[in-house]
Amino acid sequence: MKLYQLPAHRLSRLLKERKISVEEIVTSFLHQIEMVEDKIRAFLFLDEEEALKEARQWDRIISEGKDVGPLTGIPIAIKDNICIKDKETSCASRILKGFYPPYSATVIERLKKAGTIIIGKTNLDEFAMGSSTENSAFQITRNPWNLEAIPGGSSGGSAAAVASGEVPLALGSDTGGSIRQPAAFCGVVGLKPTYGRVSRYGLVAFASSLDQIGPITKDVTDCALLLQIISGKDPLDSTSLDYPVPKYTDFLIPELRGIRIGLPKEYFIAGTEEEVKKSILRAANVLEDLGAHVEETSLPHTDYAVATYYLIATAEASSNLARYDGVEYGHRTKKGENLIDMYKRTRQEGFGEEVKRRIMLGTYVLSEGYYEDYYGKAQRVRTLIKQDFDRAFQKFDALITPTSPTVAFKVGEKIDDPLKMYLSDIFTISANLAGIPAISIPCGFSRDNLPIGLQILAKPFDEETLLRIAYAYEQNTEWHKREPKILKDEESEVEK
Ligand code: GLN
Repeated sequence: MKLYQLPAHRLSRLLKERKISVEEIVTSFLHQIEMVEDKIRAFLFLDEEEALKEARQWDRIISEGKDVGPLTGIPIAIKDNICIKDKETSCASRILKGFYPPYSATVIERLKKAGTIIIGKTNLDEFAMGSSTENSAFQITRNPWNLEAIPGGSSGGSAAAVASGEVPLALGSDTGGSIRQPAAFCGVVGLKPTYGRVSRYGLVAFASSLDQIGPITKDVTDCALLLQIISGKDPLDSTSLDYPVPKYTDFLIPELRGIRIGLPKEYFIAGTEEEVKKSILRAANVLEDLGAHVEETSLPHTDYAVATYYLIATAEASSNLARYDGVEYGHRTKKGENLIDMYKRTRQEGFGEEVKRRIMLGTYVLSEGYYEDYYGKAQRVRTLIKQDFDRAFQKFDALITPTSPTVAFKVGEKIDDPLKMYLSDIFTISANLAGIPAISIPCGFSRDNLPIGLQILAKPFDEETLLRIAYAYEQNTEWHKREPKILKDEESEVEK
């Protein structure tokens, strides 16, 4: 095994035993980046020198015998819609090209304090709008399992970077599935926390009532460790909640006695690939063998989730994106004849097609005469969807579903058909509408060797139950141990 193939918790153990140094860890990942990045194209920006400098600093601190945290010295990649002070944050949009935030997001401050080493910023669909990362204005990221396939989206860069061994940890953001779906497509673990669990301060807003930042990792233990660092109330985000943060690793126990799990029948609809369905049902059997009680249930308003989401998310996006007018941030047209013309041209030049489509849709559903019919109605249906979950969680501790109806699709396959693209979020968006936490973990492979994701959903602020079920499943299956070929290419690093 090479260092870049190991999860963070194992690297951390080797570091504590003084078998390796932080510099060796960082060098190993930078080397892997050099080997594969021209194929994967996960990063918009890399900070090798800074990473090595920080690595040496931590080595010095460790050699002085100081007690360090469980993720100290571990490399991490950050989705490029999360602000890092003085580092370009483009959201993969031309309109933010040249925007250097004057402050860092709260999650970044916490990661720095915990000693993780930020290696770079990862590619995404422009402003996190999309499901394939093809909406990036700058580059197409490839799926490490098959370079002809998309990595999912919108946090495709982060998921692909973890899956290809470029980093062991990454942060993504999830408004309608953008952490879980790419994690599923790339065969890694991705968790969307409860709305309010993690501070959104410094996350560029897409749809403020749905957005959450969360971990993308190689395994469940790393997911628990990273979630621990970023969770908790932040005075700078009034929507973050002051709810106690438990020690998540305490819940990583490999059995499930007494756990009740629901299998919502609406998630096994036509259009879901047979292989996906089979893998989820097989996973349900494994969970039963581990002591859980699994039973079919129903979330009757599931059918309305996609429509509801695309009304609410676009409405919020149209309002959030109004600030990009060439005055304060990033790009400004060179051709504006007067102020209004300058606004128009800046936005016309700066935004990509999908972002424009959403701004128009969102503006429409909020406009006088249509507001009640669309936006108002969507808000009410959102409540019904939330109530479906409330009801289900009276009986069950968690629900399991496929993360996505399909495995990763080919580059170009859905890009000209927005509706088809939107439908690929059908199983992930309800969690955002209801504000509940959800995780995706690997649970199988298609005939073409593409990963399949199992989604687990739980009550608000019950991330520990998600992690417990995910961990028990992971420890009793082998899926997370499979690696894409790109990770196994023989190189001359010392065996550890
Ligand atoms: N794919 C969904 C969309 O396009 C979700 C994106 C996200 O979660 N950021 O809106």
